[in-house]
Amino acid sequence: MTSTTLSIVSELAEIVGPANVLTDPDVTAGYVTDWTGHWSGHTEAVVRPGSTAEVSAVLTACHRHGLRVVPQGGNTGLVGGSIPMDGEIVLSTRRLTTIERVDVVDRTLAAGAGVIVAQAQEAARQHGLDLGVDLASRDSATLGGIVSTNAGGIRMIKNGNTRRQLLGIEAVLSDGRVVTRWKELVKDNVGYDLPGLLAGAEGTLAVITRVLMRLVIPAPRTQVSLVAVTTVSDALQLVDRLERAGLTLEAAELMTRPGIDLVRRHHDLRAPLDVDSPFLLLAEVSGQRDTQALLLDVLEQAGESVLDAAVEEGPAPKLWRYRESHTESISAESSTPPVKLDLSTPLREVEQFLTTLTPALAENFPDVRAICFGHVGDGNLHVNLLDVKETERERVTDFVLRHVTQHGGSISAEHGVGRAKAPWLALGRSPEDINLMKSIRAAIDPAGLLNPHILPIR
Ligand SMILES: Cc1cc2nc3c(=O)[nH]c(=O)nc-3n(C[C@H](O)[C@H](O)[C@H](O)COP(=O)(O)OP(=O)(O)OC[C@H]3O[C@@H](n4cnc5c(N)ncnc54)[C@H](O)[C@@H]3O)c2cc1C
Repeated sequence: MTSTTLSIVSELAEIVGPANVLTDPDVTAGYVTDWTGHWSGHTEAVVRPGSTAEVSAVLTACHRHGLRVVPQGGNTGLVGGSIPMDGEIVLSTRRLTTIERVDVVDRTLAAGAGVIVAQAQEAARQHGLDLGVDLASRDSATLGGIVSTNAGGIRMIKNGNTRRQLLGIEAVLSDGRVVTRWKELVKDNVGYDLPGLLAGAEGTLAVITRVLMRLVIPAPRTQVSLVAVTTVSDALQLVDRLERAGLTLEAAELMTRPGIDLVRRHHDLRAPLDVDSPFLLLAEVSGQRDTQALLLDVLEQAGESVLDAAVEEGPAPKLWRYRESHTESISAESSTPPVKLDLSTPLREVEQFLTTLTPALAENFPDVRAICFGHVGDGNLHVNLLDVKETERERVTDFVLRHVTQHGGSISAEHGVGRAKAPWLALGRSPEDINLMKSIRAAIDPAGLLNPHILPIR
């Protein structure tokens, strides 16, 4: 350690206590590599403040020393945004774990940014309510993380993204100033939407320390169906039929046969249905009347486009397991860290995008295996590329991102830009748009200390 680092480490230790400044590489190892194993950096110190005041004091000290900082929550992000690739200080929010209040009248939850999503869900459920966001990383991802990435997840089709759940925020700017916008109001049009701006900013504008989240009333009973179909269009038409029948769509997830086979291999599961169809749709629905009868009716009326189906009362964890085990099974299967491309297209383009992508990949990258799945009801597909050699990562990423752009889609549907997609920002945004984002960033963090190398590049 240099003398400057020694001096900052002791300064940080005075703020948060010596036990909360981690410098031993064995201990900091879990903070410097991302969930996929691809992004690996280094740091002189991980600092773990326990309150907004401590976050403010930490950032004030780093600002004085001109030190760059990477905010980190649960470190489940899939675009390398939470990793100190250039030796930045890691500011971990994992001690900001207070659930302050669940308000059953205004249906809100006030909590620290380090609260784990599953714990926030549990706190809400104890009052007959629920968080509007759910995702397979719920046991590790934090509230600050889902806000910072504007996470989507499996309930997005019903409740919208995390930004839509956010009513208030407390955050600390890079120079230590604390900004609080905290109103338990559904209607409050006084000036710019600062919580909305910080949502999806991926830690480039401020460190979020507390959040006020809107809660939803969970559906009392749901039905989950796993349906074998031949085409993506059949799946989307079924989704449309379910809604037109008056059912509320709680989730609509698409999987492919190779994806299901892979999950079965890694989890020793039997085939979910009797037929071997190219695609499977997992649809969870709720309704006012006899939901199961209505669901069966829709499946019946869909005729030959439904090859086979299983229906179970929600939450149906056995059916959901086929979908939720995809991410970890893919990581376990791939001989190299998988390239994870989270994309979206307009619904009318999903079929064309997918059916042209697979042969094009096979032709141009014969050694690469693609497993696609995702929140198809939102036009969101996760394209996972397995066995990609390090030397091929950039070329195959470029290939797929250009392909999705040609189909009117987005290079990042819900995971953010991070480091993984920063070089391709211009595929998703115009030069004027990017310049405006740069101006906003320069106004809020003029020294460029927060997450300097991710969205948007300076
Ligand atoms: C199995 C699995 C399933 C997943 N499913 C989904 C899914 O369905 N939908 C989806 O959208 N994502 C999904 N993800 C991705 C990931 O879980 C989300 O991006 C999540 O929001 C990250 O939360 P985190 O607390 O782990 O944040 P981190 O990974 O720690 O950080 C993510 C980004 O936010 C910033 N950040 C974190 N906390 C703060 C804070 N308090 N203040 C400022 N910046 C901060 C970081 O600097 C980084 O840029 C999945 C990941 C896994 C591993």
